[in-house]
Formats: sequence, structure tokens, C-alpha cells
Amino acid sequence: MASGHGAWDASIANLFSPGARVLVCQAGYFSENWSATARQYGVEVEVVAAAERRAVDPKAVEERLAADQGHAIKAVLIVQNETATGMRHPVAEVRAAMNRVKHPALYCVDTISSLASYDFRMDEWGVDLVVGGSQKGLMMPPGMSFTAINARAWAASQDARNPRRYWDWRPMVEGGRQLRFCGTAPIPYFYGLEAALDMIEEEGLENVFARHRRLAQATRARVRAWSAVTPHGGGPEIYSLDPEAASDSLTAVLTPAGHDADKVRAIAADRYSVALGRGLGALQGRVFRIGHMGDLNEPMLLGALGGIELALAEAGMPHARGGVEAAMEALRAPAAIRKAAVAA
Ligand SMILES: *Cc1c(COP(=O)(O)O)cnc(C)c1O
Repeated sequence: MASGHGAWDASIANLFSPGARVLVCQAGYFSENWSATARQYGVEVEVVAAAERRAVDPKAVEERLAADQGHAIKAVLIVQNETATGMRHPVAEVRAAMNRVKHPALYCVDTISSLASYDFRMDEWGVDLVVGGSQKGLMMPPGMSFTAINARAWAASQDARNPRRYWDWRPMVEGGRQLRFCGTAPIPYFYGLEAALDMIEEEGLENVFARHRRLAQATRARVRAWSAVTPHGGGPEIYSLDPEAASDSLTAVLTPAGHDADKVRAIAADRYSVALGRGLGALQGRVFRIGHMGDLNEPMLLGALGGIELALAEAGMPHARGGVEAAMEALRAPAAIRKAAVAA
């Protein structure tokens, strides 16, 4: 029982020994902090850094692994959805790159802010360890996180020499059974999880993904409308420069230079009760983040976006108006398609 940070700790404690080397696909605050966890355990961290505002490049991972003839790199770590930048990173493509150079490293993926918001496939994509969290797409309170491992990760944990006690997987799952008392089970969270999974099952996972896609597209349409202060932009922008990499669970908005993103957040919160995520690390003051994951529908999103547009004006942030219409337009098209499908 721990927040996502605990699952990070458990992943490093169980898989590696001091001095082991890992390759981290670094692309923002969360991947940097998974790295920091590894370093704290004495694991050596090598980084393949994504270009600013771009997705991780599988080719760069491939080149680094190809150069590692002695297979010193024990694992590749990637965050599927970088919550600090609102960008999705190519999990399946990085696995394909690892396969092309036949590198035996374990593949570890943080799905904390993508789980139940968009597609992820552990077995199909050859992922050895996955961490997830309760308070993002799973709609629960913070404080519960999840770890999934396959046989390769389990085997690695048998030889790992990192110190571990609370995080130790071994007494929890030996032969598929819990062997020892590992601490009092936080039962209320399991009721919450059951309710969340019931909601997802009732809607249907594919429909949940489609809804996230639709709401994300509407949000992006809205931000693009705000940015069109001149034909060349000048207003707030979608942080991701790769359209494919813009996340379906949240949108990070980069504010124009010289303007304070936190002022917009403060006004949005105080006057309109719209809570925006702040810029993390190097992005503080430059970015605000619009969450559109979990239990959310069109009117909720349109209301929030309207509140943000009012806050942009009050903060004196340059922006073009008309974002409501742009977002509505993005929502209308798929609705028409849905109706046609029902009628057919
Ligand atoms: C939120 C988040 C975490 C950390 O989870 P906590 O529950 O806050 O400790 C880790 N990785 C990603 C991608 C996240 O979005």
C-alpha cells in the first residue's frame, strides 16, 4: 500500500543490485524522478533524453542498446504518459527497438497516468514490469498503487541484492500465495477499486478509451483556438509539438513567454473552482495542465474550459476567444457518427 512513488521504490528494490545499470527514457518530471529513485538505491542511471516537446525516439534507444555489446544495461525504463508534459511515449515501439538489437534488458513501464485512459498491453508489448496508480484514470483516492510483473521480472527479483523489507515481493506472492503477514491490508481501498472497475466494465473499456480520446480532442481544439492570437499563434499552446504524442488523459498548456501560468491557475481556482495542475520542475510558471481523465463527461469539460477561458482574460494572458465553439465542434462530429451507428 503506497502512492505511485512507493511502486517506483518497489520496482527498483526488487529488480536490481547496487551498481546495476539501467537506461531511462527521460522526458519530464516523472521519468526524472523514477531515475532519482534508482540512483538512491545505488543503481547507475543512463539517460536517453527526448528532445524538448517531442516524444521519446525509439531509434535513440536502439542505438544506445546496440552499443551495449556486453549487455551491461539491465533494464529500460519508460513512463507511458508523462504527466508533467501531457505527452504519451511510444511503449510498443521502444520494445520493437529492443527486439531489433536483441537486447535482453528488462522492460519497465510506468502507466500511472495512462492506465484506464488509453491503451496499454503488457504481454503483447513485451513489458516485464508495470506500475499503476489509483488516483488517475482509476478515479480513486491517492494512496494505492499497483505492480504487475512477469516471470522474467520475478526471476530477476530472486537474485537482486538491493535492500528491501516492506517492498519485498517474495513473501507476498511465492507460488501465487501470500506466505507471511506483510502488514494490515487497507481493505477500504479494495472496495473503492471494485467500484472503479465496475464503472469501467459497465461503460466498456473501449468506450472509456474513446471518451478520453473525444474529450482530449475537444480540449486540444480549444487550446489551438486560444493560441491563434495572430496567424502565427502567440497565445497559449499545446505543449506537445508531436500531434500524435499529445496525451488523451491530460493536456499541458504552454503559456506565452513573459506570462505567468500560475496566475491563470490561481484565478481559475479562486473565481471558478476549476483546479488546474501546475507546471512541475523546470515547467513551473510556464505550464498549466488540464486533466481530462477518469469520471468526466462533455458538459463537465466544457464548463471547465469556459472557466479557464475567463481566467485567461482576467490574468491578462494573450489568447483568442471562441474556444467554446471550437471544443463543441470537436464534440459534435463523433456524436453524429454515434447517432448514425445507433440508427443503422
Ligand atoms: C502521479 C504519477 C506518479 C506518482 O504517483 P503518486 O501516487 O503521486 O506517488 C508517478 N508517475 C506518473 C506518470 C504519475 O502521473
